[in-house]
Amino acid sequence: MANYLQTKAIVLSHRDLAEHDRLYTLYTEAKGKLEVRVRGARKILSKLQPPLSSIAVVRVLVYEGRSRPLLIGIETAERLPLVASTLWRTQVASRFIRLVDISTRPGICDEEMFALLRDGIHMAEHVSPPQASALRDAFILQLLIHSGYRPELHVCVVCRNAQPNAFSAAHGGAVCFKCSATDPTAVAVCAAELDALRAHATVPLAATAILPASNLGAITQALLRHRLETVLWFPVVG
Ligand SMILES: [Zn+2]
Repeated sequence: MANYLQTKAIVLSHRDLAEHDRLYTLYTEAKGKLEVRVRGARKILSKLQPPLSSIAVVRVLVYEGRSRPLLIGIETAERLPLVASTLWRTQVASRFIRLVDISTRPGICDEEMFALLRDGIHMAEHVSPPQASALRDAFILQLLIHSGYRPELHVCVVCRNAQPNAFSAAHGGAVCFKCSATDPTAVAVCAAELDALRAHATVPLAATAILPASNLGAITQALLRHRLETVLWFPVVG
């Protein structure tokens, strides 16, 4: 039986399919990651094209028949004009989208992941330049935690020593001086930086403005390299 699905979504990526069509990967509020076919998407005059190629929250209508879901309608639901017009904001939002794309699989409903990405791109629209680093690190930590990877941020993850002073992505969190010797990529951290990591892991993204500018970039990049096997360059602003 055929069904129609109407839901909010964010476009993650696309690839060409057949002569005129494209396959778009959406992150939907109702069904998580969803691949939809768009007939005629590669024709210049396709009216579905403008909302499909902008960073925004869209509302889609999808026909789910026997074969691959087909996109039959789309409109922009939440516009992000500054993300569209400011290069560093475009870069921040598109990296958040990329991170969700590489850390999720189709077929898993996850409204919280949709909300995290939606909040992330909304904050890319609104964040002030000095707070962009805090937004970046909060988003990365919360994405990893939501994906099932929770770094230990209180005691040494190896020996439970109560005064860790380094961070090891390979070991999975904070480590003491002795245990840090077993990971040549471990970076030294002070107690204040561990406090900051805990704050970034839990603050609502909309409240990243209350955090000071973040110097946790080396740690969040190490986590991305280790957990997602990716290096994502973020713009330096502020
Ligand atoms: Zn230890």
